[in-house]
Amino acid sequence: MSHVVLDRITKRYGGHHALNGVTVAVQQGEMLALLGPSGCGKTTLLRCIAGLTAFDTGRLTIGGADMSGVPVRKRPIGMVFQSYALFPNLTVRGNVTFPLTVRKTPKAEIEARADEMLALVGLDHLGDRLPNQLSGGQQQRVALARALSPGPEVLLLDEPLSALDAQVRTRLRDEVRRIQHQVGITTVFVTHDQAEALAISDRVAVMNAGDIEQCAPPAEIYTAPATRFAAGFVGNRNTLELTAADGRVRAGGAFDVAAPADRVLVMFRPEDVCLTRDGSGARGTVDVTVFLGATTRVYVQVGIGGRPVTLFADLPSRAAAELTPGDAVRVRVADDHVRVFPA
Ligand code: ATP
Repeated sequence: MSHVVLDRITKRYGGHHALNGVTVAVQQGEMLALLGPSGCGKTTLLRCIAGLTAFDTGRLTIGGADMSGVPVRKRPIGMVFQSYALFPNLTVRGNVTFPLTVRKTPKAEIEARADEMLALVGLDHLGDRLPNQLSGGQQQRVALARALSPGPEVLLLDEPLSALDAQVRTRLRDEVRRIQHQVGITTVFVTHDQAEALAISDRVAVMNAGDIEQCAPPAEIYTAPATRFAAGFVGNRNTLELTAADGRVRAGGAFDVAAPADRVLVMFRPEDVCLTRDGSGARGTVDVTVFLGATTRVYVQVGIGGRPVTLFADLPSRAAAELTPGDAVRVRVADDHVRVFPA
């Protein structure tokens, strides 16, 4: 069931179109990531849902109710920002109970709810601390517990992990996913980090310049990007600009795919590149190998269309151990792993 429905939302700042008619429906209990580069409009879109920013045209409904004219505090939402924005003079528990206190919830209910929320985010032992006595990750857990304590229908997260260092960030990312699942709350999560978007969400909306270019489950975004922008923004990829002949691009035998134009951009993932000692494929020479742990990135020089081109392949490190710079190899990419766009 559609829970949050955005219908042709536009927003302009002066002459600048921040949102160009965005349409998307977030399903009940779904985690939707808004992913895109800086300035593409994802924060603006989130703020429109919250009511913090007024959009120019379009329609927003939450649970079927039109939100036009509904102020922020009357919307059934909870929000977490990049900056934790905790009340510095209130304890952890005080922060979590604050939204309930202002709603004049009965005392016993407030305390029971605080216990439940602190346990949910794994902070039951730190209820008496002040925010400045917590790590960044812990502060963000408090912010999450505070956003959830009044039992909102929809959770809005604006880059909530960006201020954290890499290890804490990954751990809290997985925690946020667990908590979202456990509570079953409809969630919109803004991030510019593609790995984070793929890891955390049920669907990813890839945004570019005020539009959603593709909205699909993470695996589909990754394996079947619908647009050149989505293909380029999500995941590592090789990108080649090639000329078609007779409506095909053949790339020296590395692949053979239909071309939508005379000049095309060809994209494929490094893990989809096959390197063999012999057999079919384009002739290449190993240039450099970079050990990355489980995988090794192998750069290969290939002659395509009469000029040398460098590609990279990600191989399991055990397989790549047999390759050394200067080795002659054959390069192949399965045709259905090659995306082609007009240049
Ligand atoms: P970031 O990841 O950098 O926050 P974003 O994708 O969230 O980027 P928005 O903050 O939504 O992008 O901004 C979209 C566009 O609207 C940008 O070009 C931005 O400069 C512009 N913009 C946002 N808020 C305002 C404002 N209050 N006044 C004028 N322009 C604004």
